[in-house]
Amino acid sequence: MSIPRFEAIVQSLNRAVISVEEKGRRSDIFGVNVFNEAKMLQYLTKDAYESLKDAIVTGSKIDRKIADQVAEAIKGWAITMGATHYTHWFQPLTGSTAEKHDAFFDLTLDGRALEKFGGGQLVQQEPDASSFPSGGIRNTFEARGYTAWDPTSPAFVYGTTLCIPTIFVSYTGEALDNKAPLLRALGAVDEAATQVAKYFDKNVTKVNATLGWEQEYFLIDKALAYSRPDIVITGRTLLGVAAPKGQQLDDHYFGVIPSRVLSFMSDLEKECTKLGIPVKTRHNEVAPNQFELAPVFEEANLAVDHNLLLMDVMDKIADRHNLKVLFHEKPFAGVNGSGKHNNWSLATDTGVNLLSPGSTPMKNLQFLTFFVNTIKAVDTYEEVLRSSIASASNDHRLGANEAPPAIFSIFIGKQLSSVLDELEGVSQGKLSPEEKTELKLNVVGKIPEILLDNTDRNRTSPFAFTGNKFEMRGVGSKTNCAKPMTVLNTIVAKQLKDFKKEVDLLLDKKGLKKDEAIFNVLREYIKTCKRIRFDGDGYSKDWETEAKKRKLSNNKNTPEALKILSSKDTIDLFKSMKVLSEVELGARMEVELETYVMHLQIEGQMYKNLVYNSVIPSAIAYQNKLITNVTGLKEIYGAAHKGFTEAQLSMVEEIGEHISALKKATDTMSNAQNKADKLTGTAKMAEVYCNDIKPYFDTIRSHADQLEKVIEDQLWPLTKYSELLFIK
Ligand code: ADP
Ligand code: MG
Repeated sequence: MSIPRFEAIVQSLNRAVISVEEKGRRSDIFGVNVFNEAKMLQYLTKDAYESLKDAIVTGSKIDRKIADQVAEAIKGWAITMGATHYTHWFQPLTGSTAEKHDAFFDLTLDGRALEKFGGGQLVQQEPDASSFPSGGIRNTFEARGYTAWDPTSPAFVYGTTLCIPTIFVSYTGEALDNKAPLLRALGAVDEAATQVAKYFDKNVTKVNATLGWEQEYFLIDKALAYSRPDIVITGRTLLGVAAPKGQQLDDHYFGVIPSRVLSFMSDLEKECTKLGIPVKTRHNEVAPNQFELAPVFEEANLAVDHNLLLMDVMDKIADRHNLKVLFHEKPFAGVNGSGKHNNWSLATDTGVNLLSPGSTPMKNLQFLTFFVNTIKAVDTYEEVLRSSIASASNDHRLGANEAPPAIFSIFIGKQLSSVLDELEGVSQGKLSPEEKTELKLNVVGKIPEILLDNTDRNRTSPFAFTGNKFEMRGVGSKTNCAKPMTVLNTIVAKQLKDFKKEVDLLLDKKGLKKDEAIFNVLREYIKTCKRIRFDGDGYSKDWETEAKKRKLSNNKNTPEALKILSSKDTIDLFKSMKVLSEVELGARMEVELETYVMHLQIEGQMYKNLVYNSVIPSAIAYQNKLITNVTGLKEIYGAAHKGFTEAQLSMVEEIGEHISALKKATDTMSNAQNKADKLTGTAKMAEVYCNDIKPYFDTIRSHADQLEKVIEDQLWPLTKYSELLFIK
């Protein structure tokens, strides 16, 4: 009988590098598949162009006639690009993207063929999407959902399909996706930040949140990946002994990229560039076969779409190179997991990064304003922010023995800390001319200098200031960035609005000058949000103890992390910023919990399959081999056999003990699962899965892994870590 593991190894060893032609400049192909500004100018009438531009910049509505013109133009362009179909491309709450393709082709009433794609099809579509999760919002038989065009993210041709980025909402107006709330949050932060930026520059009329994500991933040979049913079904290895060599030699990080991988990367980057995804950096990551890709940052909505598109393109290109991409946050035990750092900032339409220090004291006061307000926002809503990155798979990183910790804290470095310490001493009310000069020259005035040589970087911080942006590091590699970006921009919007109110009050009621009022409010913020600032080792036990004293949350698993979403403060936050209604928020929490439970249900079922179909049979096969050996020796040597069979018999027993323990744990888990599945209430179910069922996974794994260690290699059916991670 042939074992798939060995066939896969042979296949993977015989792979040729698939060559990718690299000629010409990347900038020549950038965005060729995108209906971008250049194509708008080329294909649209002046009216249509202006109307579309206005919709993109100000969010104005496009009237039906113009929509028809735009649709006609996009269709014309798409067909020249080889598109035969179009789709509304949207982000249901499953976390990935969805699409349903329709041909441009249609029939007239008298049966003649025509190419049809009008404003109606561009603007709105009703996918028969009744099986997407809605957390109870959309009863399949009552309110249906529809997708609506998001003109701020340009349409693109992917393969032979014209993709139109859309939001997905119910007919009663509730968001059924991740994009609609993101757009609302970006609107809220635009409004609030613009008001505050106007203190410093009257010409600012719009503020965009910017996002630069860094996508980490594992890449393994396709045949090897498909030889592991757990990878196929759950995206991770549920069992497996660490290879003798892991990442301890640090020989993979930034090392030479293997040829097959490099060829995949070139191919991928070419495709991304055509699709307008500004990919820039590629390198090996810490764990064996782990890599990273980072683009140039963009406006957050576009960056989110680009990340989702990237993940899809990666899957397809990897397949072409006989590789499989693993986006799971922890595909392999014992080596690093994968994250997706979200670098975030705010930029004005006058071209200023509000989190970048400037060349004058006033510009630096602007920087400090946005800097301190962000810190304050995270301090107030750290637990809500934590909830935005909670998932069954990310639980293996956050709060497990893995980076970064589940506790939110902010790293700003020594120099900025000392600036904040000095600002804490600013006088109450009006400032004397001497104090103002001192502040301008020696505190605020010094900022650019210190940042330039601020090389101090803390890799253990979940939320770090890195010179001109904040970097949120707990985001999972699989996560849709829309989720953390919705929360981050909402809390900063709320904070900036509160700040504006406080400053205006001091201006009107106390007659303070603008800079005095700002210093006064910032001083109080600095005083009250000290607990969130932490520059030490975020992975240490001491920090856990210290964070507890500071009353920072430390929610180590998804059910715990999601609880905050039902609190009154959270409901008020999203309601007041018009990002999510109470119903929408409740629905999201429900979907997150449901998803969590389903992941654990699948993993539990998969454990059972692996144990009964693979691990126990091979353990028994080896045990039988040992028994045959012992029986043979006994036949030959009679009573004298004891001298030669002791080792074999002790192994027979050891295997037997593991088999019993394994069967017992698996059956108990399976029974617990059956019981849990009958519970009512998703929150209760999630808790039971988390606390009563998941711990069995570890017991099962430990016995199965002990067996892998002792059983003859030829009899072990599951491809091993040493093969999965080291065959290039
Ligand atoms: P790292 O040391 O973490 O690799 P980099 O300077 O290479 O940091 O930047 C990482 C990411 O941060 C990149 O994707 C980059 O585009 C993004 N980034 C840089 N500036 C900004 C900004 N102002 N807003 C958002 N993202 C940014
Ligand atoms: Mg980074």
